[in-house]
Amino acid sequence: MASPAGQAGWHTGHVTGQDTTIEAYLSEAPEVTRFWQALGLPGLIDVHVHFMPANVLAKVWAYFDAGKESAGQPWPIRYRLPESERLALLRAFGVRTFGALSYPHKPGMAAWLNSWSAEFAARTPDAVHSATFYPEPAAAGYVAEAIAAGARLFKAHVQVGAYDPRDPALDPVWGMLADARIPVVVHCGSGPSPGRFTGPGPIGAVLARHPGLVAVIAHLGAPEYADFLDLAGRYPDVHLDTTMVFTDYFDQIAAFPPALRPRLADLAGQIVLGSDFPNVPYPYLRQLRGLERLGLGDDWLRGVCYRNPARLLGR
Ligand SMILES: [Zn+2]
Repeated sequence: MASPAGQAGWHTGHVTGQDTTIEAYLSEAPEVTRFWQALGLPGLIDVHVHFMPANVLAKVWAYFDAGKESAGQPWPIRYRLPESERLALLRAFGVRTFGALSYPHKPGMAAWLNSWSAEFAARTPDAVHSATFYPEPAAAGYVAEAIAAGARLFKAHVQVGAYDPRDPALDPVWGMLADARIPVVVHCGSGPSPGRFTGPGPIGAVLARHPGLVAVIAHLGAPEYADFLDLAGRYPDVHLDTTMVFTDYFDQIAAFPPALRPRLADLAGQIVLGSDFPNVPYPYLRQLRGLERLGLGDDWLRGVCYRNPARLLGR
């Protein structure tokens, strides 16, 4: 992190990525590469990356700029780069496969996002073809279409969408995903911001009804870590992604309690690397260093950073 970009972190109040070229970020690549090479891995697999239509991503970035994701805490998007440069950067980091997630915040939007994601995946071989949904009458139909078109990963954002995952319109959706064994990244913890239907209760009811659902709980369920670890203990198909957890930035929002670390070891096969690239306010390497600092060992890291997500995504 000797690059000028590396020094201009969120804490300086400098909004990075707007006046910095890709070269500054590419200088982060050697240290990221050394991380996975030292583990003997062929690279990284990151289940929680965002690629969306440019106008939607601009709106998401404006939302972060306004501090709405973080209760007013500055959240300067680090990798605010054109799509081709964001792809080049992930590849330079050695991210071999990634979930290309998008999500709607209102009705009537998911089917259009899904057609964009299909087109994106068709021209991006290292992106997992992803899709999304919203509780609306058309949901079951367009989710079935997305699965038929090859979608192999879904995303549901209970906080941004402000919906109840138990909504009857979603019951056939959860059922289809469970039957097809297609993983769905669900942002359902109450962090960084709480929502009416976040927390372990509503999604726990969905799992009780669809126990085979391959749910990937985003942000390790922050801040309700213990409850979501319990769910993963109860349902072997439930996974937890590491997105942003164990970084100094996220520690200020919802630090992972050290007392729960042994449970990360117990559930080793159900934990998968997620980063939230490009929407993070710090260098990518910090996610990896945070995992390393847990002290759970090289084999745990190999599972989280490659083996588990490879199995989950069928790669
Ligand atoms: Zn995300």
